[in-house]
Amino acid sequence: MSTASAATDPKALQDEFNPFLSMAKGFDTAADHLGLDEGVREVLRRPDRELTVAIPVNMDDGSLRVFTGYRVQHNFSRGPCKGGIRYAPDVNLDEVRALAAWMTWKCAVVDIPFGGAKGGVICDPRQLSQVELERITRRYTAAIMDIIGPDRDVPAPDVNTNEQTMAWIMDTYSMHVRRTTTAIVTGKPLAIGGSRGRHEATGRGVMLICREALKKIGLRPENARVVVQGSGNVGGIGAMLLHREGYRVISMSDMYGAIVDEKGLDVPAVLAHLKKTKKLEGFPGARTISGGTEQLELDCDVLVPAAVENQITTKNADRIKAKLVVEGANGPTTFAASEILDKRGVVVVPDILANAGGVTVSYFEWVQDRMGYFWTEERVNTTLEQIMVKSFADVDAVAKRYRVSLRIAAYILAIDRVASVYRMRGVFA
Ligand code: NAD
Repeated sequence: MSTASAATDPKALQDEFNPFLSMAKGFDTAADHLGLDEGVREVLRRPDRELTVAIPVNMDDGSLRVFTGYRVQHNFSRGPCKGGIRYAPDVNLDEVRALAAWMTWKCAVVDIPFGGAKGGVICDPRQLSQVELERITRRYTAAIMDIIGPDRDVPAPDVNTNEQTMAWIMDTYSMHVRRTTTAIVTGKPLAIGGSRGRHEATGRGVMLICREALKKIGLRPENARVVVQGSGNVGGIGAMLLHREGYRVISMSDMYGAIVDEKGLDVPAVLAHLKKTKKLEGFPGARTISGGTEQLELDCDVLVPAAVENQITTKNADRIKAKLVVEGANGPTTFAASEILDKRGVVVVPDILANAGGVTVSYFEWVQDRMGYFWTEERVNTTLEQIMVKSFADVDAVAKRYRVSLRIAAYILAIDRVASVYRMRGVFA
């Protein structure tokens, strides 16, 4: 697809914005470099299992509504599937498929013994009460019971789900199997088998990857101006940790807009303001701009898209000024836009490496639950740092060896690891 046509042709744009097609393009490019044979390519390209469920729920106003939920398990070769559950009005099967496949590649990049899965429910949490959300969660859990489990598929939080959602899933599953099963989900509250450091893990991983990538482009943290899109679990905590390490965070955003202060934002004060007012807008001393492309095109050194998919596209990739893009979100850069950034010499650390801190500490949580022995925060953070630093070096080495971008290198590393295990295990019949 030529970039010019993608920016103007509606069909090309539709394809560009389809996360599953974006994933497939990265996969195919890497598979070509590896010379992967057609059969294994066909196996790894498509999800192993897809489940669509109807979720009837009694609403607070007395009506009965039926929601649609999905769980897609992409690949089991390296271990049980692992992946978050997302609640949003625009959840769709192609998105869940892409996110499930990215989980397979992500777990392989950081070399943890899981395959990839993802789940989602089509709903708008802002329009639902806590009780309705609890009923949706419990019925969705019951509907996917047969395919999840500590040795089968272990869900976690994603957009609009949190520790409370995980507590409800853990309880529902445990009631069905008649024993407390903490290892059924990760991202739980500490009191019921959560891990220290899990809440901050994805943001911490983003911070560590920024540090490693900055060395590659020869810039010191204190000289790096950073723009962060999103101020939730990944963006908010990522910005906070970058600020603590001496980076100058000049802009942050939420779904309503972005704030900018070229002198550098006081990130803890911004997050306190957000907690109090539920919006970034109105933060004293900062100017307000729109949160989409206007923020992404700000003059900066490091751009951390940490909100949603399809933010850097063929429509704005030419105007991105950052030298380094660290993908906190899943799929924030379309495949076509990624190629434009590569040609312009912008270093892009792909999602399947940059935001892998979350699933890495989820793995620690699952290990701790199964041992019934809990680690100190220091042990969690130190082990996370070792894994993130090694994974960055592994991907960088593959990039140099194959002369490809970090995105294609991450896919090559991951596909090679999954394919070799697949061949070792062989085909069950
Ligand atoms: P979250 O719900 O905590 O935060 C999302 C943030 O994005 C909020 O600040 C929201 O206001 C903002 N936002 C939403 N739409 C926006 C838009 N159009 N423009 C700008 N900002 C917008 O979610 P999260 O857990 O931080 O997840 C963010 C991304 O990171 C997702 O792509 C998710 O899949 C990915 N991710 C999350 C984790 C994790 O551990 N939470 C791990 C890996 C990847």
